[in-house]
Amino acid sequence: MPVIDPDQADRDCEVLVVGGGPSGSACAYWLAGAGHDVVLLERKRYPREKTCGDGLTPRSVRQLEEMGLAGELAASGHRYEGLRSHGFGRTLELTWPGHPQLPGHGYVITRKDLDTLVAARAARAGATVWERAEAVAPVVEDGLLRGATVARKDAPDAPPLRVRARYTVVADGANSRFGRALGTTRDRSYPLGMAIRGYYESPLHAERWIDSWLDIRDRSGHVLPGYGWIFPVGDGRVNVGVGLLSTFNQWKAVNTTHLMESFVAYAPAEWDLRPGTACGPATGGRLPTGLSVGPHVGPTHLVVGDAGGSINPFNGEGIAYAYETGRMAADAVHLALASGDAMALHSYRDALSDRYSLYYRVARAFVRLIGHPEMMRVLVSTGMRNRSLMEWVLRIMANLLRPDELGPAEAAYRAVAGIARLAPLATP
Ligand SMILES: Cc1cc2nc3c(=O)[nH]c(=O)nc-3n(C[C@H](O)[C@H](O)[C@H](O)COP(=O)(O)OP(=O)(O)OC[C@H]3O[C@@H](n4cnc5c(N)ncnc54)[C@H](O)[C@@H]3O)c2cc1C
Repeated sequence: MPVIDPDQADRDCEVLVVGGGPSGSACAYWLAGAGHDVVLLERKRYPREKTCGDGLTPRSVRQLEEMGLAGELAASGHRYEGLRSHGFGRTLELTWPGHPQLPGHGYVITRKDLDTLVAARAARAGATVWERAEAVAPVVEDGLLRGATVARKDAPDAPPLRVRARYTVVADGANSRFGRALGTTRDRSYPLGMAIRGYYESPLHAERWIDSWLDIRDRSGHVLPGYGWIFPVGDGRVNVGVGLLSTFNQWKAVNTTHLMESFVAYAPAEWDLRPGTACGPATGGRLPTGLSVGPHVGPTHLVVGDAGGSINPFNGEGIAYAYETGRMAADAVHLALASGDAMALHSYRDALSDRYSLYYRVARAFVRLIGHPEMMRVLVSTGMRNRSLMEWVLRIMANLLRPDELGPAEAAYRAVAGIARLAPLATP
């Protein structure tokens, strides 16, 4: 994929996508596949690092397969079969629950590799992908967004160019400077996650499970609402991290670097996590959850992925939701272009609401509950004694509920969702 040319002239297109992470590349792929003239801007150069746990659940795998990437994913990623959950001295191995539409496995793959694969897929489908191209300001004409002014990062002396577009998709991630310039804001009453991760060389780099610890503690030994993980990358390294939620009333006082150090020291010795096996300093980031950032629809633009706060509050998973929201936005833009009616962009808001609104409401209520450390301790220590209960919890938290069958997890979820429909469970 080309770095933007210093001589590139201003360009008109049907759709401009700002940001080449999972949400932007998926959106560009689906739009290009539908025959539209799409320009995707990525300010960095692939392959580029992105702070992440690198864990793909069956939901992500399905989206990648539907983009035609099953073979490349299998060749570059490390396949795993389920979650090994640890807490209060117990361990449970939980394979991914069966689902009629989703595969029964996941992958761990560095974002360096993954995001390059998907951006290249969008380019092969016909999207113009420009790297080292940063959208620095909206282009506004007659009060409507009509694209962006673009800086060529490798040619700072070259004048910025204008990419004019009928519609723009904002996919610039959790910090979303471009989105904020268009007026998006985060609803602070929604939970926000905070996570930090680093790579370590480990003899257990090729495990067939992803491991998570549900009883992470601060320096004084108190259990905190969050989890620690070790994900096998399969190339000699493991991805190690901790995540925390803002529903914990003292979360601002928690130093994630210290928490990470405590977790690394606490991890069982067979992983061999220590300063000598660390591959570099740990880096962190914010996880906006529950569709907390909006509005998601403007007169000529849509907001997708982390820029729209689409991460699942239950488990901090964001990649699947970035692919899904990118695809849903592509459908809405396609409809608007095909019908010549910009009002069709609003179908994106309806699609978000149909697919996520009730589920995310239940999730927000749940994370508010576990924001109380004592509640978290009681729930985890009870769950770790009961395999069936943990299997339901995994099905619910990873959003793998079956549409075709009413099992115990679906029944439990429906009961809570019924209450959530009636009562404003998650509002503060
Ligand atoms: C520590 C941590 C661990 C995580 N672990 C997991 C996990 O294991 N599994 C999981 O599913 N999710 C995980 N997540 C969440 C996941 O990383 C995000 O949900 C996901 O990356 C969102 O994709 P996105 O495309 O919306 O944004 P991003 O991946 O952030 O992509 C945005 C892209 O836009 C580019 N960009 C930004 N501004 C501009 C601009 N103005 N012009 C051009 N380009 C621009 C950026 O360079 C970037 O490439 C984790 C997050 C963190 C912080």
